[in-house]
Amino acid sequence: MAILIDGKKTSEQIKSEIASRVAEIKASGGKIPHLAAVLVGEDGASQTYVGAKVKACEQVGFQSTLVRLDADITEDALLHEVQRINDDADIDGLIVQLPLPKHISVEKVTAKIKPEKDVDGFTPANVGRMALNWPTYVSATPYGILELLKRYEIETSGKHCVVIGRSHIVGSPMSILMARNDYPGNCTVTITHSRTKDLAEIAKSADILIVALGRPEFVTAEMVKEGAVVIDVGIHRVADESKKSGFRLIGDVKFDEVASKASAITPVPGGVGPMTIASLLYNTLLAAERKIYP
Ligand code: NAP
Repeated sequence: MAILIDGKKTSEQIKSEIASRVAEIKASGGKIPHLAAVLVGEDGASQTYVGAKVKACEQVGFQSTLVRLDADITEDALLHEVQRINDDADIDGLIVQLPLPKHISVEKVTAKIKPEKDVDGFTPANVGRMALNWPTYVSATPYGILELLKRYEIETSGKHCVVIGRSHIVGSPMSILMARNDYPGNCTVTITHSRTKDLAEIAKSADILIVALGRPEFVTAEMVKEGAVVIDVGIHRVADESKKSGFRLIGDVKFDEVASKASAITPVPGGVGPMTIASLLYNTLLAAERKIYP
């Protein structure tokens, strides 16, 4: 049976490390890290995510500011708001919760965020730095995966890493990070997507399989090599009457059958998901301490 890579426990550990650092900063009279989150509109899922981020800030002793804006705000007014936060010397990190309403360009808004405050790591400057393996804010999900590999001491050098999915937020950055000359990294990477032929064969050749395609239980045991490390990024709600909530969460990987073949695996829930907020907090601490842009 595979080792369970426990993202819930690891994220709590990271949050407690950050809280200890904040206590030290406070004791020495330093500036408390301050994260600003911009939420446009009333989307339920976005409100939940932003709420969880603000709560996590409180948990570790950060200051946080939630800027709520109406769904019909103009693009210019939102850009102006981002600029106002860019210029606010007290705010260290700035995130704009996605998705944005259709009349607003995500590219324009992202590009407006000052790279020094871009703790989501989405700006072209920080993505470029990531690709160059320069110090940067690695975006939350990829950073969370790297941290899990590191803390579970997964050997990556010389391994074949197959990434399923090429999105800007998960698959594409993961493929770059796993190929870089660093730890975790130094893998031979194959990145796959919806046009890939013989995906099952390619997946089966992976020592490390990172799955982020957004298809429930897509990866089955036949697609996995004996002893592979499997990282499941997918997250889906399925109806389950036995649960009080009426649903349960599953990933992109058929957990039970793949776990019996893998050497290590992340569960859903409790794997990659919980790591994302811890990663955001970590990046905010880096921003406050001017570790990336001195
Ligand atoms: P996305 O933007 O929809 O990208 C999906 C990628 O998978 C695309 O590159 C797509 O290929 C590829 N793909 C789709 N169907 C495929 C198939 N049958 N065979 C091979 N490749 C296929 O998704 P995402 O934002 O990366 O998210 C992926 C999953 O992770 C979702 O379930 C999402 O909810 C979850 N997620 C979880 C977290 C977390 O914190 N745990 C964070 C982010 C995302 P094309 O490029 O050719 O279309």
